[in-house]
Amino acid sequence: MKKYDTIIIGGGPAGLSAGIYAMRSRLKAVLIEKFMPGGQMMVADFIENFPGFPAGIGGPELSMAMADQAQSLGLEIIASDCISADFSKEQKLVHTADGDFSAPTAIIASGATPRRLMVPGEDRLTGKGVSYCATCDGAFFKDKEIAVAGGGNTAIQDAIFLTRFAKKVTILHRRDALRATKILQERALRNPKVEIAWNTVITEIKGKQKVESITVKNVKDASLGMLPVDGIFVLIGTDPNTEFLRGQVVMDPSGYIITNEEMETSMPGVYAAGDCRHKMLRQMLTAAADGAIAATSAEQYIESLEDRDH
Ligand code: NAP
Repeated sequence: MKKYDTIIIGGGPAGLSAGIYAMRSRLKAVLIEKFMPGGQMMVADFIENFPGFPAGIGGPELSMAMADQAQSLGLEIIASDCISADFSKEQKLVHTADGDFSAPTAIIASGATPRRLMVPGEDRLTGKGVSYCATCDGAFFKDKEIAVAGGGNTAIQDAIFLTRFAKKVTILHRRDALRATKILQERALRNPKVEIAWNTVITEIKGKQKVESITVKNVKDASLGMLPVDGIFVLIGTDPNTEFLRGQVVMDPSGYIITNEEMETSMPGVYAAGDCRHKMLRQMLTAAADGAIAATSAEQYIESLEDRDH
């Protein structure tokens, strides 16, 4: 079994930032990432809201830069899938497809996955008009016609935000009432650029090189229609990647991990950072900030164990 000071689960901006801070604190740290470093950043064609890049930067480019920075400080990055963990003892155990790891602290930065519509054309046109993040991609749709799928707070708030750029925003909601809070509903309804298609689901996203139209279905009478749009924002919620940690730390009903401001979970020595955490704003910037705090908290926790043992 490999022993470390801290085990970081997940290699997005939260995990990589935790890795950078852990290495600068001279902790023996390992980062375990299922795919490749970057997380959701890797699928962002272009990032315009990360401070320091006024002309924007490609998601893969920024991911590589963060990973390089962490590795140049000595962070060990392992490509493997975390299967389960046991945080009940002082030495936390993380079981992966490639062996077990142990450390007195763990930083969970396993992220969240945007829910997909699961309709034809969605995968092929992701990044080519299909987006899961209005803050990231809204500015690409200046004077265009776009659609937003969803009826929750994210969909309605982001639909209003998107009217800053788009000529017209059509919200497609599968029911006849929005889930979003009333004040957001009122704001959307009185916005002249917003239209709501009730009882409507998307059955297909069409386009050769980029999104050109969507096929919609009225769930009441099963009638089909076609909406010509340049983009479709799928904002139907996210699912945290925390299933493998069920029962180990306290989560909210949706599976997001509850922490305090020090990123400490219900289990001493275990921290959570980034999109897998119950929080208000899920962005690369806030993920990176969480990671820095989590690593600093882990360092302080290790120091407290050393003080106790001397
Ligand atoms: P959400 O509240 O879970 O809403 C998801 C929306 O997408 C719902 O309207 C749902 O329809 C719809 N939906 C889900 N699966 C679908 C599918 N397969 N096809 C079509 N539509 C589908 O998610 P969220 O809006 O991302 O919000 C997540 C959390 O963050 C919530 O607690 C929310 O209050 C909070 N939040 C708060 C604010 C704010 O306070 N300003 C802003 C953003 C987010 P149904 O309504 O029919 O279920």
